[in-house]
Amino acid sequence: MLPEALARQIITDHERHPRGKGAIEGAPHVALDNPGCGDHVTVWVRVEAGRLAEVCFTGRGCAISQASASLMTGALRGKGLEEARALATRYRAMVMGEGPADPVLGDLVALAGVSRLHARRKCALLAWNALEAALAED
Ligand code: ZN
Repeated sequence: MLPEALARQIITDHERHPRGKGAIEGAPHVALDNPGCGDHVTVWVRVEAGRLAEVCFTGRGCAISQASASLMTGALRGKGLEEARALATRYRAMVMGEGPADPVLGDLVALAGVSRLHARRKCALLAWNALEAALAED
C-alpha cells in the first residue's frame, strides 16, 4: 500500500492531467453513469490482434472516477486481452477490499484506499465496468 499522501498525489495528477482522454473514431465504446455521485464515463477500445491497441475515455465526475479512468487507460494500453481481464479482476478485488494492492497493478494501487470508502467504490469501478462491457461488444 502506498503512503496516503503519495496516493492522493497520483490521483490528483491524473484528475488534472488525464491520460488517454478522447474518443476513438469508429471503435466500440460503452457509456456508464454513476448517478449516486454524478459520474459519467465513456470508454473506447480498439482491439488489434488480441491486444488492446488503444484505450481511451471521455467523461466527467469526481476525482476518483476520472483518475481511475485515466490510470486504467495507461495500465491497459498494449496489453493482451487475457492480461487485461486478469488486471481488471485484481483491480476489482482491491477496490472491493477482497484482494491486496498487487504491485502488478502499478499506479492503480493509488486507489487501494477506496476499499475503505464504500460509497466511492462505484466511482473507482465505473470506467472498468464500461471497459468490460465494451470488450464484450467487440
Ligand atoms: Zn464519484
